[in-house]
Amino acid sequence: MKTSQRTSACQCIKEVLNHGNMEFVEAIRREQQILETPKNKSDKNRLPDTSFIKQLGRLGETLQQAPKTVVLACSDARVPVLDLFQQRANEVFEIRLEGNVASTECLGSISYAVEHLPTIEGIVVLGHTGCGAITAAVDHYLSPKPEATTVEGSIMSLIKTIIPSVDIAASVLAMNSQSEQDAVLREALDRRKLIGTAIFVNAAAMAWKVQAFIRGLRRNVPVWYGVYDLASCRILHADLDRRDGSLLFGLGDAPHVTELNEVAQILVKYLQKMNNFDAAKFSTNGHNRQTQAAWEMLSTGGAPSAT
Ligand SMILES: [Zn+2]
Repeated sequence: MKTSQRTSACQCIKEVLNHGNMEFVEAIRREQQILETPKNKSDKNRLPDTSFIKQLGRLGETLQQAPKTVVLACSDARVPVLDLFQQRANEVFEIRLEGNVASTECLGSISYAVEHLPTIEGIVVLGHTGCGAITAAVDHYLSPKPEATTVEGSIMSLIKTIIPSVDIAASVLAMNSQSEQDAVLREALDRRKLIGTAIFVNAAAMAWKVQAFIRGLRRNVPVWYGVYDLASCRILHADLDRRDGSLLFGLGDAPHVTELNEVAQILVKYLQKMNNFDAAKFSTNGHNRQTQAAWEMLSTGGAPSAT
């Protein structure tokens, strides 16, 4: 792309963003006008629950921050944190970083939220299918490359944080392959299965890390984890009670570090059950309709529908 073309494109999206903010202010102004009409008498109940004024106050007002949840999620633009939990402005304290890694900076933000925002009732670590950061970590695990430049070095820092989860997933996959096929080489690991398993292990591992961290704070709140499936839009977690290779709907409790192997085991069993489906649904293609069928089978206990 030529420099002039790039500048033009940047200006275009900049204008879109500026216009968006003007529209936002205008929407609040319109809500304010509704409240200012004599028959409404400033009754906020006249406004729909989705109104900005209910969440953020009137223009000129600054409300207290009052989120009930901290969500540590990946930066992936396909993971709409507020929408997928049906939450609104001022209800979620969002921390977003590629691979939803609980870096030192993230833990600092969590510390602030838990200790200074009494409205916080729980913390969610949210992974997602088709995660580019996990995919990059798996690819690096399978064929390590040296750190060449500063930019690559900073990405490597992210990848290094994810590698322990990949390692757990790989060990469990290798163990299973050994018992079934009597021949295991790291190179033989199914990349797609490794990505699928590592996504769950990483979300669970980061939740464990957060839970261990907040034990040292002045206030304690529960920590949960889940994986948002881009195709079905559902959140899933590994069933650590039955341990039969089932994924359950919704958020799960942050596991103990000793249970991370179990999480990997469950995913490996799950992917084996779904072998006819194509484990790629957990890797790069977030739009595979087979995920929906897999979900239906898990949730109903019946056979997957032919989609
Ligand atoms: Zn991601």
